[in-house]
Amino acid sequence: MSINSNSCIFCQILTEQSIDTFLFKDEFCFAIRDINPVAKVHFLVIPNVHLTFLEQWDESNLPIIGQMVDVARKLASSEGIADSGYRLSINQKEDAGQMIDHLHLHVYGGEKLRSM
Ligand code: AMP
Ligand code: ZN
Repeated sequence: MSINSNSCIFCQILTEQSIDTFLFKDEFCFAIRDINPVAKVHFLVIPNVHLTFLEQWDESNLPIIGQMVDVARKLASSEGIADSGYRLSINQKEDAGQMIDHLHLHVYGGEKLRSM
């Protein structure tokens, strides 16, 4: 695990984007709208550190994932999907179709979501 990777789009967004890019940003994580949304509401909650896979997490990372879920919950409310419902998902590796190897939490909502 490294703190930041120059070749990673999410690390670049964290360091280079202007503040209005972010739905949320603090010392643990940040949130942005997905560039290619697959639901009416689709945003990503991303740890500031360049963690790749959940296997790399240890107990010291637990506050980060706790904060990520809490940010997802609060943004779901401010995005107006807390009552209608939403889905959290983390894609891991090839079978899940993970495209970006900087761990991220997808939040989908704003419409009836297909079950998989
Ligand atoms: P995954 O398949 O879980 O790795 O998903 C990566 C997600 O990141 C996809 O839903 C992409 O649409 C999204 N994405 C890729 N580049 C960007 C970007 N520059 N800004 C926002 N979302 C992005
Ligand atoms: Zn990264």
